Amino acid sequence: MSEQNFDLVVLGAGSGGYAAALRASQLGLTVGLIEKGKVGGTCLHVGCIPTKALLHAAEVADVTREAAKYGVTASFNGIDIAAVTAYREEIVASKYKGLQGLIKARGITTIEGEGRLTSPTTVQVGDISVTGKNIILATGSYSRSLPGLDIGGRVITSEQALALPFVPQRVAVLGGGVIGVEFSSVWRSWGAEVTIIEALPHLVPNEDESISKSFERAFRKRGIEFKLGVRFQSVTQNDNGVVVTLENGETVEADLLLVAVGRGPSTANLGYEEAGVNMDRGFVLTDERLRTNIPGVWAVGDIVPGLQLAHRGFQQGIFVAEEIAGLNPVVVADVNIPKVTYSDPEVASVGLTEAKAVEQYGADAVSSYDYNLAGNGKSHIIGTSGSVKVVRVKDGPVVGVHMIGARVGELIGEAQLAVNWEAYPEDIAPFIHAHPTQNEALGEAFLAIAGKPLHAI
Ligand SMILES: Cc1cc2nc3c(=O)[nH]c(=O)nc-3n(C[C@H](O)[C@H](O)[C@H](O)COP(=O)(O)OP(=O)(O)OC[C@H]3O[C@@H](n4cnc5c(N)ncnc54)[C@H](O)[C@@H]3O)c2cc1C
Repeated sequence: MSEQNFDLVVLGAGSGGYAAALRASQLGLTVGLIEKGKVGGTCLHVGCIPTKALLHAAEVADVTREAAKYGVTASFNGIDIAAVTAYREEIVASKYKGLQGLIKARGITTIEGEGRLTSPTTVQVGDISVTGKNIILATGSYSRSLPGLDIGGRVITSEQALALPFVPQRVAVLGGGVIGVEFSSVWRSWGAEVTIIEALPHLVPNEDESISKSFERAFRKRGIEFKLGVRFQSVTQNDNGVVVTLENGETVEADLLLVAVGRGPSTANLGYEEAGVNMDRGFVLTDERLRTNIPGVWAVGDIVPGLQLAHRGFQQGIFVAEEIAGLNPVVVADVNIPKVTYSDPEVASVGLTEAKAVEQYGADAVSSYDYNLAGNGKSHIIGTSGSVKVVRVKDGPVVGVHMIGARVGELIGEAQLAVNWEAYPEDIAPFIHAHPTQNEALGEAFLAIAGKPLHAI
C-alpha cells in the first residue's frame, strides 16, 4: 500500500477532468489525474472527434457526387471503410499524443487505473491511496439503452457504430437527438437507407421548433426517413438483420439498430454514495459553483445534470480549478452554452428558443427575425440553404440565436458572445462582417432586428 498526496485529485481524465487538471496546474496546484482508460475520455476517443472525421468523409462523398454541378469531373465509386478508419484513427492518435504531451509538460501526475472514492479526501487506485485537499469527480457517461432493449449483435451503440468495418445498407436509428442524427447523416451520405424512430414530436427536439421543422424538411429531402411521436416496443434479430416493432404496430426492418437514446452518468460502484455525496438517478448533484454537499468534493462534466457537451466539461473543469484557487470565476448558465448538431445540415444555437423567451418575458416583450440563407452569397456558392434566427427582448438584448445550414456551427462563436454579453442588436449591428462569408448572415439578422436590414426587406 502506498500513498500519494496532491492539492487536487481529479477522478477521470475526459474533457471535464483534464481541463480541470490543466488549469489547476497552471495556477500552481499539484495535481493527480486518475484515468482507467485513455486521457481525453469519450470526446477524444469515441465521441466528438472521431465522429467529426466520419462526417467529413461523408461530406467529401456528397461533394464528389455533386461535383458536376460545380463543373468538376469526378465520380463517386463508394466508400473504402478501411481508409476511412485509418483517417479517423490517425486524427484521434495525433490529438491523443498532443494531449498526453501537454499533461506531462504541465507537470501533472497521471495515475493509471480505476479509482474509487473512499473518503472525502481519498481515492483508492489499486493499492495506491491518492489523497487531495480537493477532489473533482469527473467520471463521465456511457451510452444508455431502454428497459428490455439489450445491446449486442446487430443492436449497437455509438461506440460500435464508429468502428463498424462496413457501410450498412439499411439502418434503423432509435433516437432523433444529436448522436442519432449525426450517424444518420453519415450513413445516408455513404448510401445507406436510414429510418429514425423518435418518441418526441420532432427531430433535434431540444432546438427551436422552427429549426426542428427545417431540419426535418432537409432530412426528408435527403431521403432520410423518420417516424416521430412513436415509441419503440421491441426488436428481434437474426443472421440477416433486425426487425424493430413500434408501439403503434409498425415495423422497421434493417441490417442494424443504432440505439441513441442518451447517455447515463458513469457513477455506479465508485464509492460516491458511500462517501455521502448527494445523487439523483446516478447524477451527482452540485450547486451552481459545482460543489457537492461534501466540502472539498466537486463534480464536473456529464455526471452533473444538464447539457452533456465537451465544451461544458472544459468550462466546468476550468471553473472549479479557478474556484479552488480563489479566483471567483463567473458562472455560465447551461442555457447560454452553445450547442451544435453536426450533420448535413448543421444546427447551431445558443440561448433561449423563441417559445422559452416568450414564456420568460411575455409575448409582447419578445421579437425575432429569421434571415434566410438564400440571401447570403457564400451559402449560395457552397450550395446550402437554411436560416439564422435571432430572438431578442424588445428594446433589450439578444437572448437567443438559432441557425441551420451547412457549416453554421462555425458561426456560433459570435452568437454566444452576443447572448452571453447580453448585447443589444443596435450596439453590435454596426460592426462589420467580411464579405462574402456565411457570417454575414448573422450580421444581416442583427441589422434587421435592429430595424435597418441591408440585404433583406
Ligand atoms: C458519439 C458522440 C459524439 C459526441 N460529439 C460531441 C460533440 O461533437 N461535441 C460535444 O461538445 N460533445 C460531444 N459528445 C459529448 C462529449 O463526448 C461529452 O460531453 C464529454 O466527453 C464529457 O466529458 P466528461 O469529462 O464528463 O466525461 P468523459 O469524456 O466520459 O470522461 C470520463 C473519463 O473518466 C474515466 N473514468 C470513469 N470512471 C473512472 C474510474 N473509476 N477511475 C478512473 N477513470 C475513470 C473514463 O475512462 C473517461 O476517460 C459526444 C459524445 C458521443 C458519445
